[in-house]
Amino acid sequence: MDLGIAGRSALVCASSKGLGRACAESLAREGAAVTMVARGREVLEDAAEAIRRATAARVTTVVADITTAAGRATVLEACGAPDILVTNAGGPKPGDFREWEREDWIAALDANMLAPIALMKATIDAMIARRFGRIVNITSAAVKAPIDILGLSNGARSGLTGFVAGLARGVVAHNVTINNLLPGPFETDRLRDTARQWSRQTGKSEDTVLAERRAANPAGRFGTPAEFGDACVYLCSAQAGFITGQNLLLDGGNYPGTF
Ligand code: NAP
Repeated sequence: MDLGIAGRSALVCASSKGLGRACAESLAREGAAVTMVARGREVLEDAAEAIRRATAARVTTVVADITTAAGRATVLEACGAPDILVTNAGGPKPGDFREWEREDWIAALDANMLAPIALMKATIDAMIARRFGRIVNITSAAVKAPIDILGLSNGARSGLTGFVAGLARGVVAHNVTINNLLPGPFETDRLRDTARQWSRQTGKSEDTVLAERRAANPAGRFGTPAEFGDACVYLCSAQAGFITGQNLLLDGGNYPGTF
């Protein structure tokens, strides 16, 4: 199936590793010109080069912290007005809410709520003018089923989800869609970091924690970043113009509800 986005420009935030990188690669494979962003230059350049070699797409890199206004300004200057925006940033630290101060909450809100909103604000009017825009926010399964040690994530991402629910209905008539992808457990550095924290809290080894999580998932495994990237690219496709305001859970069936 031709997804109809060859030649479109895509900004993929926090994309040198993990889920962001997978989204960048899937978009590049469909012929989009991709701008990739991360704070660490070396890993970002390596990832971009690997994607260029695999897809022959035009891939631009920007070293920036997407959670700051200055970082976003640098990114937007480099990529102009993208047709496709994938928002993403590192997840907040796990822990016990009794340990978190106001600064921890502000950092989580900046990364996982306010940065995506600022990026949408900066890019959406040009999408409306062109009558094509696809926005995908990488959030978390924790929005539907909270994870106790990820309270900062549960809170900040729920704020973004509420905001998007309202905005999405206001722009879809212009062929601009906004959807959220909710990852369950995907095999990335972030998942391993969370397992390390859980291992410290429970006294179980990291391998045991990972094995138990795999076994507890109905799929009996973690998701692969490539599966995530390919779901993202469909939501960014020309064909997906009637899908908006949705929260799509990718979790191997882990969420137990009927809806
Ligand atoms: P990951 O493998 O740790 O990759 C994170 C990527 O984001 C890296 O490229 C990192 O590069 C970049 N990044 C982090 N902070 C950034 C910032 N402030 N500005 C620019 N780039 C930044 O993480 P992941 O597993 O792909 O997770 C992506 C998102 O999905 C996170 O918010 C995570 O909490 C959420 N999530 C993941 C899972 C999972 O199972 N993997 C489940 C639920 C939710 P630099 O460090 O060089 O900047």
